[in-house]
Amino acid sequence: MIIFSRNRTETTLDTELAETIATHFHVHVLSIPFFYDLRSFGATIQRLRTLNEPCLFLAPFPERATKSLLVHLEIKKITVALDISNTNSDQILKFIEEADDLFLISETSGGYVERLDELTVKRWYPVIDQSECIGCLECINFCLFGVYVIGGDGKPVTDQPDACRDGCPACARVCPGAAVMFPMHDDPDISGRTDAQTIRQKVRIDLSQTKEEHRHQKQPDQSNKWNRLEPDELDDWVDQIDRFDYRQF
Ligand code: SF4
Ligand code: SF4
Repeated sequence: MIIFSRNRTETTLDTELAETIATHFHVHVLSIPFFYDLRSFGATIQRLRTLNEPCLFLAPFPERATKSLLVHLEIKKITVALDISNTNSDQILKFIEEADDLFLISETSGGYVERLDELTVKRWYPVIDQSECIGCLECINFCLFGVYVIGGDGKPVTDQPDACRDGCPACARVCPGAAVMFPMHDDPDISGRTDAQTIRQKVRIDLSQTKEEHRHQKQPDQSNKWNRLEPDELDDWVDQIDRFDYRQF
């Protein structure tokens, strides 16, 4: 079976592509609404949880985000995903052909598309790549909106996805593991299109540049004694002034 996620705004191309795949490979194609917008308790996700054979997943968003979301939603039978956002139908057919052995596409009843519909709204929430998470909990400390909780393994879990601020990718920027993704963001480093190791390399370069800049920063003005006082020393000075007895003059 092949799972086919339609675009958020469905087009006739979605329908045609699902039909083409089904007839070309004589395979059962399960066409579902835009995967990222589906609720974990909805009928479509429940159905995906009951799959009992290896499936190929085609979705118009980044593969790393797709795989992480499948793990989060406990959908176990889909092990390979393809991002079809910027691919044409020939490329998709070629990919499936090459993946055929993995998925043992052996249906003989002729190809058909089974369409699932579910009412969805546009959503925005973080997806965590648990394989890259180092458990530092920076994301939980940073988020003011209770999106995350700490899971049984001590790592964050996206518990209240819809509490996330629409369009904001803030915690993806503070994550040292490059594990937090917002699949609908334009920046590939945030959407999950760039692999985590490459992002971490870039961050290391940025940090080293920052340190270099810091070394060459202008030293603070030492001419004024008050500029050189530490806060505690300043407190002592104020205390001494308070204790000063002016009557002796
Ligand atoms: S900030 Fe990133 S690495 Fe740290 S716990 Fe959160 S997801 Fe994991
Ligand atoms: S983007 Fe902001 S609101 Fe959303 S999970 Fe991250 S820190 Fe919380």
